[in-house]
Amino acid sequence: AGRTIGAARQAEDAAEASLRPQVLDEFVGQKASRENLDIFIRAARGRGDALDHVLLHGPPGLGKTTLAQIVARELGVGFRATSGPVIQRAGDLAAILTNLQPRDVLFIDEIHRLQPAIEEVLYPAMEDFQLDLIIGEGPAARSVRIDLSPFTLVAATTRSGLLTTPLRDRFGIPLRLVFYTAEELRLIVARGAEKLRFALSSEGAEEIARRSRGTPRIAGRLLRRVRDFAAVTAAGQVVDRALADAALTRLEVDALGLDAMDRRYLRRIAEHHHGGPVGVETLAAALAEARDTIEDVIEPYLIQEGLVLRTSRGRVLGELGWRHLGLVPPRSASQ
Ligand code: ADP
Repeated sequence: AGRTIGAARQAEDAAEASLRPQVLDEFVGQKASRENLDIFIRAARGRGDALDHVLLHGPPGLGKTTLAQIVARELGVGFRATSGPVIQRAGDLAAILTNLQPRDVLFIDEIHRLQPAIEEVLYPAMEDFQLDLIIGEGPAARSVRIDLSPFTLVAATTRSGLLTTPLRDRFGIPLRLVFYTAEELRLIVARGAEKLRFALSSEGAEEIARRSRGTPRIAGRLLRRVRDFAAVTAAGQVVDRALADAALTRLEVDALGLDAMDRRYLRRIAEHHHGGPVGVETLAAALAEARDTIEDVIEPYLIQEGLVLRTSRGRVLGELGWRHLGLVPPRSASQ
């Protein structure tokens, strides 16, 4: 799944950065989260305090990193980013924390992948801006306490259910990001086209938006691919709906915005498991994908759209899922 991980993601990072909104007012959608942040940022700025710790959760590509950067910019403080799996030792975290300036924002992506021992170090840092470190080993070991500058931890996770309760409880501002509406995405695509100086009609933008799986990152990626396609096949023309459709179809993005991986997932449940229920582990093995990728990247949108249902006995293909594959649901599945 090249959608979010590894080299594919890295290669797209530079292109993405150029489309990132810089301030809260430019950030489209997520109204509830945006309004909450706006109030808390103003209050913290007014008091001259560090903003309370923020937990952002939601599927990949919905704007968690972008929002974290915006928070720092709106607060007028420094921004430092790392991620759960990168922090291997308590000393790594200590080095980052002791280098923060007062009221800085520290962004930790994928916080659910932080090791338990490192989580323990984070608790007093979040709560009292103190670090308790053990120096040395064996009988000579002693513990030292280091005072930190007050800072704001902005953490992101694809699933807050994976966080331990003590960690989750230490965030004063938990925010859940949701999939974007087609209209919000149309605005994001239209603005992106403007930034890229690319002539895209309003219907063209709508077509890309509609097929972006509710996700700005995907909208940005499709926008760039459509631009490439148009540059080669229709240089100089305004990109309208038909041209956008042709480009997206060639990219194997179907009418609902599902890609080849989504369809492989759906077809697996339909053809090998009679529509389910089937356990996620079984699907992961059959599709040669990590279980996390299935649960964090593929399933949330399919579930929201009613193509797949999550039941206690496993995944079940919904009636819409059958129809989308052009198949007829067996009688038992449609009851
Ligand atoms: P996450 O951290 O949740 O995976 P990012 O913050 O990296 O997602 O966002 C992915 C891309 O989508 C960014 O490059 C950004 O340009 C774009 N994006 C995300 N949210 C918005 C938004 N609300 N408005 C415009 N662009 C957005």
